[in-house]
Amino acid sequence: MMQMPFLKPGDEKRYLVEHGVRPLNHRVAVYKYLLENPIHPTADDIYGDLKKHMASISRTTVYNVLNLLCDQGVVKRIAIEKNEMRYDANISNHMHFKCIDCGKVYDLHTVSFPEVSIPDGFTMHEVQVNISGNCPACDAIA
Ligand SMILES: [Zn+2]
Ligand SMILES: [Zn+2]
Repeated sequence: MMQMPFLKPGDEKRYLVEHGVRPLNHRVAVYKYLLENPIHPTADDIYGDLKKHMASISRTTVYNVLNLLCDQGVVKRIAIEKNEMRYDANISNHMHFKCIDCGKVYDLHTVSFPEVSIPDGFTMHEVQVNISGNCPACDAIA
């Protein structure tokens, strides 16, 4: 499932280059992983899956690549957890729904994103709206 409709498979490299990221293998692998797994994985999730078919990748590399991708604006950090950062290749403003039982984080698509008025003197960098509850799979068990 692709989140970025304008990115056709094979376009990832070009997209990264356009955003100032040299498309080294590890960088492309991490970015593609995020596009193909829009479940807002942690760095450890990404490392755990990628190392299965990329023996050369290290945990440090995954962290460094994620920092670079965030700095270049192609990936967003999602601070939905107190103590762990999650990553999202969907850089548009969107809401998140976190299931409190399975911990999965889903994208919510809204007709209109809430508009907030920011008081004078404050500079807004980004808006994150996070909702928690139960996903259908967990509701079925309960
Ligand atoms: Zn759930
Ligand atoms: Zn998201």
